[in-house]
Amino acid sequence: MVYHSTRNKALEVTGAQAIAQGIADDGGLFVPASIPELTAEDFNSLMFLSYAERAARLFELYLTDFTPEELRECTKAAYESGNFDTPAVQEIATLKDGCMLLELWHGPTCAFKDMALQILPHFLTRAAKKSGVDREIVILTATSGDTGKAALAGFQDVPGTRIMVFYPEDGVSSMQKRQMQTQEGENVRVCAVKGNFDDCQNGVKAIFTDPAMQKALADHGMQFSSANSINWGRLVPQIVYYVSAYVTMLERDILQPGQRFALTVPTGNFGNILAAWYAKQMGVPIQHLVCASNINNVLTDFIRTGEYNRKRDFHATVSPSMDILISSNLERLLYHMTHEDDAQIREWFTALKETGSYTIPRTLRDRIQAEFSGSFWDDTQTKAIIGKVFGENGYLSDTHTAVGICAARDYLAQTNEKLPMLIASTANPYKFGAAVLDAVDSVPADADEYEILDLLRKKTGMKIPTALAELRSKTVRFTDSVAQDAMVDYVKAQLGIA
Ligand SMILES: *Cc1c(COP(=O)(O)O)cnc(C)c1O
Repeated sequence: MVYHSTRNKALEVTGAQAIAQGIADDGGLFVPASIPELTAEDFNSLMFLSYAERAARLFELYLTDFTPEELRECTKAAYESGNFDTPAVQEIATLKDGCMLLELWHGPTCAFKDMALQILPHFLTRAAKKSGVDREIVILTATSGDTGKAALAGFQDVPGTRIMVFYPEDGVSSMQKRQMQTQEGENVRVCAVKGNFDDCQNGVKAIFTDPAMQKALADHGMQFSSANSINWGRLVPQIVYYVSAYVTMLERDILQPGQRFALTVPTGNFGNILAAWYAKQMGVPIQHLVCASNINNVLTDFIRTGEYNRKRDFHATVSPSMDILISSNLERLLYHMTHEDDAQIREWFTALKETGSYTIPRTLRDRIQAEFSGSFWDDTQTKAIIGKVFGENGYLSDTHTAVGICAARDYLAQTNEKLPMLIASTANPYKFGAAVLDAVDSVPADADEYEILDLLRKKTGMKIPTALAELRSKTVRFTDSVAQDAMVDYVKAQLGIA
């Protein structure tokens, strides 16, 4: 399997190179030259295997320059060394209305990002060796809250790597901030940025693609890579959990072989839903993909009109991990759906950068609408559904998942098909405790994040994840905060290359 850049089809790299590099030099994203297809027999052969074994078999299709033994080592280390609080790694819960929730948050940082970021360091260190990189790898990450912590946890004290995380100062939940500020490890740095997630992401992209910076790093025996979902090494483990979820539904007789279902994904950077689309191309019988957004509804508008326009107000919401106006992974979808028209992708994404918008032709928009629909939900609706679902089922969902539940129910109400509905559940509710408590009870004005955990447990009986309860006794290590245009100097100073 080889990979191309979305902005240059002539560029060809191996899976290891795509992962080690993170993003192509031309600013494009690495995409597989073809998407492997699975037969009914292939799905059968994945039944009744452990998650780690399923994952290893699927990785073999995409990462052909890794040996099967190497892939097994990676999946064992990520998924079978006690880092997840359930041996199944992911769980499926069913609500009384029949909607199923694919719980992807049983990892060490309580959000779905762990599914990929527990394995990425294992891929990356092996990929670097394979592609002849003997330099220290510097992971530079922009986060809307969850990626940062999951990447820190994944890369903590991994030999040959350093990691630096930038998060929007006022754009993450207090629990997310705590999780990052208290991160342990010799090779980690965390810094707040005075701006929103897009500012962090743009700052990181600019540092990444700055030739002077790359040279300075090389001179010091270092090289950048990315832990954001622009890195193919993030997406391929996410494809795995959708294939695995389908196989689990077959095992449990929830679905018959080939039976179609709908899938809703609460979306920000378009990584998680894109992974679902790849799974669909591979043969998972997904009839329709519902892209759920909060009031940062740039994707809803795009799916409905064909115009992507980031020139709009940015809103801070109770689902901060989806407060994003530039959804990077859409570039990969458009590359595939234009039949790999790299010149067209360059034109649109240059326009997005320079003018803030681009518009796709109507025929392409229609084809996207045949596979995707989008809707968006505000904070009041998000909290209302958390309360309602808890009241009806005794099941507590986080704010991002709640946006997904709103969108899923709406889609089912609008269509008469009685499709089974799977919803990606992206975070443990305790991670966004204040908003969740507000949805099911009242929040005392002076309660801190730990009192909120206790109040939420008293109200719902749901277990507080150990990883969050433990934070209380951890020292805050990182309190730096910089402006977007000072990020580059911060990076230089931390790396000692100023
Ligand atoms: C990152 C995140 C999302 C959005 O996922 P994308 O891949 O960026 O679309 C949704 N919910 C939670 C809890 C997240 O951490």
